[in-house]
Amino acid sequence: MTQPLLEKAPATTALLEIRDVSVEFGGGRRWKAVTHDVTLSVAPGETVALVGESGSGKSVTAMAILDLLPANARRTGSILLDGEELVGAGEKRLRQVRGNDVAVIFQEPMTALNPVYTIGHHLVEAIRSHRDVSKADAEVRAVELLRQVHMPEPETKVKHYPHQLSGGQRQRAMIAMAMASEPRLLIADEPTTALDVTVQAEILDLVRELQQRTGMSVLIITHDMGVVADVADRVVVMRDGRVVESAPARELFARPRHEYTQALLAAVP
Ligand code: ADP
Ligand code: MG
Repeated sequence: MTQPLLEKAPATTALLEIRDVSVEFGGGRRWKAVTHDVTLSVAPGETVALVGESGSGKSVTAMAILDLLPANARRTGSILLDGEELVGAGEKRLRQVRGNDVAVIFQEPMTALNPVYTIGHHLVEAIRSHRDVSKADAEVRAVELLRQVHMPEPETKVKHYPHQLSGGQRQRAMIAMAMASEPRLLIADEPTTALDVTVQAEILDLVRELQQRTGMSVLIITHDMGVVADVADRVVVMRDGRVVESAPARELFARPRHEYTQALLAAVP
């Protein structure tokens, strides 16, 4: 088997370090691996893009980090968050990590928003699950969070239901919910894929702005090399469940080493 083209281990301590993580689906005596020894790291304040075509194992890898995998999956390897091992950590600890240190947003916000609750209700719940504040204070904070993600008319939007928002506005609401816990790491799985091209650019601008303002780390998953060029400091390329190359974004665009990366870049219009 060919070795992945990895960089030397980062000099600074990584916030997130995934080492040799494999995920298998199945049950009983029949298990099938869909990712193989995935290794990647995200430094404090860094934006890392995880790229690769559909089915390459990007989402499975993202879900493995916080153990959000379906019940018919199992993971092996090591996942260190600020040095703390998350593989084998109890559900109680993982819940704490999910509510505080790491936030996750997905491609289609509609699946994560409950249609019977207003945007304000979602935000108040997210705020109060993180911090012990009064409902009134959380309501004030909810409007403030919407303002920070540049939601138009935030005072009105808190009273709206998810279906009353546009796709881009729903994604902004999801990002506001993610920011409620002031995460140290934001994992965004194809956050712009379901959106129109102009709205995609706005959402990427927002992610970059929030990253710069808060200093959080971002792991952004995408199959779009344009997204990578816009936001990533570093890039990790996956193919068929394996990391084939990782490099600083500038270097990867200038001198892609793996032939698969070269092919991905050649396909960019
Ligand atoms: P990507 O996000 O890169 O498009 P995924 O991580 O979603 O790819 O999927 C990687 C592989 O894992 C695919 O072959 C997919 O069919 C498989 N897979 C994903 N979810 C499941 C599941 N719940 N059960 C079985 N196989 C799955
Ligand atoms: Mg995916």
